[in-house]
Amino acid sequence: MLFSELNLNVKILKALKEQEYSKTTEIQEKVIPYLIKGRDLLGCAQTGTGKTAAFAIPILEKLSQKPITPEVYNKVQALVLAPTRELAIQIGESFNKYGQFLDIQTGVVYGGVTPKRHMKVLKREPSILVATPGRLLDLIDKECADLSCVEYFVLDEADRMLDLGMIEDVRKIIAKLPSVRQNMLFSATMPKEITKLVQSMLRNPVRIDIKSKARQKNKITQQVYNVEEPDKTARLLQLLRENKYESVLIFARTKNKVDKICKAINIANIRAKALHGDKNQSERQKVMYLFKSKEIKVLVATDVAARGIDIDGLSLVINMNIPTVPETYIHRIGRTGRAGYSGMAISFCSNQEKESLKNIKILQQLLHH
Ligand code: AMP
Repeated sequence: MLFSELNLNVKILKALKEQEYSKTTEIQEKVIPYLIKGRDLLGCAQTGTGKTAAFAIPILEKLSQKPITPEVYNKVQALVLAPTRELAIQIGESFNKYGQFLDIQTGVVYGGVTPKRHMKVLKREPSILVATPGRLLDLIDKECADLSCVEYFVLDEADRMLDLGMIEDVRKIIAKLPSVRQNMLFSATMPKEITKLVQSMLRNPVRIDIKSKARQKNKITQQVYNVEEPDKTARLLQLLRENKYESVLIFARTKNKVDKICKAINIANIRAKALHGDKNQSERQKVMYLFKSKEIKVLVATDVAARGIDIDGLSLVINMNIPTVPETYIHRIGRTGRAGYSGMAISFCSNQEKESLKNIKILQQLLHH
């Protein structure tokens, strides 16, 4: 479907044209009309499907249609919660891109920087606020964030929030919101806790299931190499030297491993950077910028640090270990082969990891049916 068929504000259409988006993705086509009508939504979809624009465009559309009354003037009217700072920043950037010709401000707040900076963000009185749950709760407690006029509420990557232990904070935030509002919840998987949250949060939702690019056949070529633990780094260096790739993201299990691997790659004269939870916010942003702009082609990361990251042209994902949780594997390889590009995922599997590999294969078979 063409965006021009969606009856959107011409200023939004102009911004989409600048992004060179003409056709909607599947999730956008299915979701945008319902959200504009005001329905609650349960979206089963991962990043890479175009889900950010699927909720950002309707929110901008609805805010642009609304007369600004004294009650809502200067107040947050749309709240988006995301599990990680990187994802929050990315979502904020999307609102800014699609809303660049509208007079609607977006603010982003997240952990890891001084709360003072965020108080400044909130003083600018954004209509749209994107936040990580912990930091937002802090700001609410300090009475710096007023959520009394929130009409649109998005919970993005709810299952990741559950993994990261954020659901209690999310519940506390929901309790502060006005009871009449439009809700959108996105989650790639539906564990029991999320189903409970869905039941308490959404009113008669439309449910949309989108197969992620990672689940579509032939989009990602997956290879497994049998490599024992002590040989993995040498095998990685060999791969990096042999392969032509635009960008490669390497996953390792712990921060310590990430640092060690990154060091080994740099010693081999290939520029690489590390991304993990011990890096401070400005370091993380800098690394992401260098990687996205392709100044650095190799990034080594932990699962948490890489969650939700969206990189164009990521051609190769290398797993230094086989994740014990099969969904983690699906999330990792889902970083490549996005928005219709093909990608490659290579995983190193030691003898000890064969059992985990079996579970991943079982999950993938289930997903393909
Ligand atoms: P998301 O799933 O929101 O992380 O989006 C995945 C990627 O697809 C991002 O790089 C978006 O900029 C891009 N994208 C989203 N919608 C479209 C569209 N309609 N046409 C082309 N690219 C898009």
